[in-house]
Amino acid sequence: MRGAGTGSPALATRKRTIDQTFTQPTSIHRGGVDPDNIMTFDDDVVLETKDLSVLYGGKPAIERVSFQVPRNEVVAIIGPSGAGKSTLIRCYNRMNDLINGVEIKGDILFEGSPLYAPEADPTEIRFRIGMVFQRPNPFPKSIYDNVAFGPRINGIQGDMDQMVEDSLRKAALWDEVHDRLEDSALALSGGQQQRLCIARALAVQPEVILMDEPAASLDPISTQAIESLIRELIEDVTIVIVTHNMQQAQRVAKYAAVVMTDESRIGELIEYGPTEQIFGTPRDQRTEAYVTGRIG
Ligand code: ADP
Repeated sequence: MRGAGTGSPALATRKRTIDQTFTQPTSIHRGGVDPDNIMTFDDDVVLETKDLSVLYGGKPAIERVSFQVPRNEVVAIIGPSGAGKSTLIRCYNRMNDLINGVEIKGDILFEGSPLYAPEADPTEIRFRIGMVFQRPNPFPKSIYDNVAFGPRINGIQGDMDQMVEDSLRKAALWDEVHDRLEDSALALSGGQQQRLCIARALAVQPEVILMDEPAASLDPISTQAIESLIRELIEDVTIVIVTHNMQQAQRVAKYAAVVMTDESRIGELIEYGPTEQIFGTPRDQRTEAYVTGRIG
């Protein structure tokens, strides 16, 4: 693992700003990314984002994002509203493909293979890289059928009862539902529904789980349950989580990626490193302004 550099003033700027404002190190409102502020890893990288840009209807939302997600860790994507956090996380399981008028440039290597190669199968990718959304979205089916759904359509062979139990146990929900597996998932509380969605994602044994503000709609007790679950899940999976909640990022994530826009309203990754460093001794003044609540 290589740490970030010394925060040298050498800036790698976006083309359109290169001749405009960069006469000094990174500063608020000036845009630009110092590559020394983006941590890199020597090995065991699961997802490698390479120069990723996303445009909606020709308008860029994020531009030239590059960073690596290490195996069996939690990486938080943080930043102000509208900075492009959801846009970025949706790229990891090709959910943006489903949006009309989207254009994706650059690539993401998943276990070394390009996710956006013509031969890459988005359906398979979505099983290997599961996603949990802001609002729990169980199917209007029984608890059992929600969890069994993925293994069934994937044709996974084996003892289905055991697979359902294992997934519910991993999602810390088994004790609460084992005697009512045939009840409708919609009868569960919001926090239970979110853990069911995590169990449903786990049932196909994914390598990565993406979480877009998974606790945003939950009460504090359910939020706590989801957070402890996240910390346990990394024994089996790698987690990328978008969160607005700074305390949550510090509680669950070992690394944090800060996405921010400037006046152009185009999101870029301005800093990536250990969460402790991002919140304690950020290298970019914009990160400091965000984590101390001065912007965003
Ligand atoms: P965040 O998650 O940080 O709040 P988003 O990724 O949701 O940011 O949005 C980043 C930018 O992309 C915003 O300007 C938003 O309006 C735009 N955007 C997001 N989703 C879509 C979409 N489906 N169609 C068009 N524009 C979108």
